[in-house]
This record gives sequence, C-alpha cells and structure tokens, in this order.
Amino acid sequence: MNFHVLTLFPEMIENGMNTSITGRAIAKGLLTLEAVNIRDYAFNKHQKVDDYTYGGGAGMLMQAEPVYLAYEAIAERTAKKPRVVYLTPQGQVFNQAMAREMALEEDLVFLCGHYEGIDERVLEEIVTDYVSIGDYVLTGGELPAMVMMDSISRMVPGVLNNQESGETESFAGNLLEYPQYSRPEEWHGKKVPEVLMSGHHANIEKWRREQSIYRTAKRRPDLLKKADLTNKEWNYVRQLRKQWKEEEEQTK
Ligand code: SAM
Repeated sequence: MNFHVLTLFPEMIENGMNTSITGRAIAKGLLTLEAVNIRDYAFNKHQKVDDYTYGGGAGMLMQAEPVYLAYEAIAERTAKKPRVVYLTPQGQVFNQAMAREMALEEDLVFLCGHYEGIDERVLEEIVTDYVSIGDYVLTGGELPAMVMMDSISRMVPGVLNNQESGETESFAGNLLEYPQYSRPEEWHGKKVPEVLMSGHHANIEKWRREQSIYRTAKRRPDLLKKADLTNKEWNYVRQLRKQWKEEEEQTK
C-alpha cells in the first residue's frame, strides 16, 4: 500500500505516521508514505497557496493550481490514475467497511484542505472520494487523513502482528467487540469472568458472542440492524430491550 498525502504540513503527517505500528510497517516496507508539500508547487515569489474567495466571506481558500500540480507530480508516477480522497466535513462519514475496501488499492492519495477549504474547480477534476471523519469541523485535513491511513493500514496483510486481531475486533459483522481482561485475576475487587479461565473454548466463544451482542444492543443499537444474528440471538436482543425498558420505567 502506497500512501501519498497532499498537504501544507508534511511534517505533521510524517511525525504522526512514522510512530508505533504504522511506523514499524513503513520501516518494514509494508507501507510507503509520501507527504507532498503543496507549497512546493506555488510558483510565485512568496510561495503563496491561498487567496480571498470570490463573492466575499470570511477566510482564505486554497487555490486550484498548486494543488493540481502537486497531484500531477504523484499521478505521473503511479501505475494507474490514483484514487484521490478529499478529506472534508461534507463527505461520506468514514467507517470500517470503507477502510477494508480502500485497503485493496495499490495507491491512495489524500488531499488535505486548510483555511476555508479548496477551490471547487480542482476538486471537480481530481477527487474521486469525498470523506469526512465525523460531523464536526477541524482546522485541516491532516488529522482525518492520518485517521484513515491508520485504520486502512490495519487491513494490510502483515501490518498487525496477529492478523486475526484485525478481523475479530469491533465492527466485524457489525458487532462491537466483547470485553477483555488481562492479569491480575482480581483488580480493585473485580474478578475476571470465570468462563475465560476455564480453558473451555466453545464456552468462551459463546460468552464472547453474547457479550458482543449485549454491548452492541446497549451502545450502538443502530449497528445491530445490519448484524447477522440467528433467531435465537434476536430473541436474546428482544429480551434485553424488554428488560431495559422495564428498568427505565421503574426509575421514572
Ligand atoms: N469551509 C469548510 C466547510 O464548511 O465545509 C470547512 C473547512 S475546514 C476549516 C478546513 C479543512 O479541514 C477542510 O478543507 C478539510 O480538509 C478538513 N476537515 C475539517 N473537518 C473535517 C472533517 N470532519 N472530516 C474531514 N476533513 C475535515
């Protein structure tokens, strides 16, 4: 997987990505990272990349030409026309399914806006995906690009030490992950659930599945609609909902 980032702050991307698990994957050559400074493509005296917006209004806008030239410098080196993700609060909200799908690409270009954003005309020419990381506004696209690259990296074979952990954690099958415990067996008077120490794999799996369903029903009921549950499991969800409703009414 080759990540290319178009940004005004390449050091922010490099510092963030060259740390921890993604840093190790870059060192091993499983990922490559190129942070291209858009300012290097501003062919004017002060390397200016922003200007006022037509029609008035607060703030400056990144101009089309430097962004386009920086993009072209990448696109002429990739095997095919690359997918270009513009990070924007106006995009589709990023999720695990998108991470999984994007991890199949050989090259991904991330375009980070700043100030009021980027001139619409260059977006129309080069952007293939408009992606947001949530319904709030940040100062720039660098953190969202890093969020996306981090989660996409985890889907690239070899990046995680234990590949299985990328497949069984939250959102796999639209369920949240079950609670987990490590040593000691007792902490602050709380004991690790006995089943986890029984060594009985079938029972452990059954407990974990039930906990995943319980947790998803409680914290993210919206996800459950897309989960693949058996009839017995749906009955369990109905029973839980009934129980929670009764408890809620009692506290009123
Ligand atoms: N004027 C823009 C609007 O109202 O849609 C917001 C511009 S924002 C201050 C500057 C840049 O930060 C954007 O161009 C985008 O790259 C990035 N950004 C801000 N919030 C984001 C979000 N929730 N997801 C992805 N990128 C975001």
